[in-house]
Amino acid sequence: MAKFLVLGGAGYIGSHMVNYLQKNHHQVVVFDNLSTGFEGLVLTEQFRNIDILDSEALKTAFNDLGPFDCVIHFCAKSLVGESKTDPKIYYRNNVTGTLNLLDVMLQTGHDKIIFSSTAATFGVPESEEIDESHPTHPINPYGQSKLMVEKILSDYAEAYGMRSVCLRYFNAAGADPSGKIGELHDPETHLIPNILKSVLGQTEATLKVFGTDYPTPDGSCIRDYIHVNDLSSAHFKAFEYIEKHTGAYRYNLGIGNGFSVLDVIRTAEKVVGKPIPFDLAERRAGDPPKLIADSTRAQKELGWQPQFLELEEIIQTAWDFHKNR
Ligand code: UDP
Repeated sequence: MAKFLVLGGAGYIGSHMVNYLQKNHHQVVVFDNLSTGFEGLVLTEQFRNIDILDSEALKTAFNDLGPFDCVIHFCAKSLVGESKTDPKIYYRNNVTGTLNLLDVMLQTGHDKIIFSSTAATFGVPESEEIDESHPTHPINPYGQSKLMVEKILSDYAEAYGMRSVCLRYFNAAGADPSGKIGELHDPETHLIPNILKSVLGQTEATLKVFGTDYPTPDGSCIRDYIHVNDLSSAHFKAFEYIEKHTGAYRYNLGIGNGFSVLDVIRTAEKVVGKPIPFDLAERRAGDPPKLIADSTRAQKELGWQPQFLELEEIIQTAWDFHKNR
């Protein structure tokens, strides 16, 4: 059994990570400022409401509740569109916040971190599938802030011996099949929950397809949707890897299959069993046309294998969560 600190454990991906670790009999402490997370998603008694911008509180909590075998860091602002209109909150939370965390880790003798990164570090793809050697030219401040942290972690590995794995998620989707936790944001901006909320009549406006003139077969953006429990297992594999290896590592996580916004709507129609009305709309700022992962390296080096390979199955788990709320 190992003891983990999950920062951002009240959020969508963080709560699934906590669930995964607990199911596998590990001990988990959660820090979260509940700015975008929900107390109802915190699955452990060992919870502190802490903002990573508050270094003193962070250090006190590390001393009170640590030591931890590994820190898993999900706390971040993560909306591409908002990062274009208000970049300062992205750089402050995602970069300054992480620097604070790393300082506290160094001061308290913690040397292992798994960092939640993103396909947005790549910008507009130059190849069909994106592997780790693909150039990184983010086209929005969100991706830029995550790339900055990736670079900081490389330098910290060299200078301070900090071990890290940055996991670049493509599009996290779905929910734990228990139906107890799932994707919740307020406001909701992500495609699959927006579709399902529109089916349930929980949205005022009709669902919108952002952009119909992208250079893709049907003109809408293509994304690689990966099940949130497959992301959790990748984090655990990453922990096992840095237990054995020093250094800073980066892996891309997706299922290697792309679906357009219109494909996702059609698949959701099959899952919910009825037509889903939508409007065609303007492009959303900061969206690259197509993002598909090549996750061969994560599979080979970490020994990770995604279990949810069908979009329909992924949307079904999201629907099981949403329809019962
Ligand atoms: N999208 C859309 N309508 C929505 C929400 C999203 O057409 O209500 C599109 C969005 O422009 C992007 C894709 O769906 O092309 C996935 O967006 P999401 O916000 O889910 O994830 P992102 O790719 O930004 O991480």
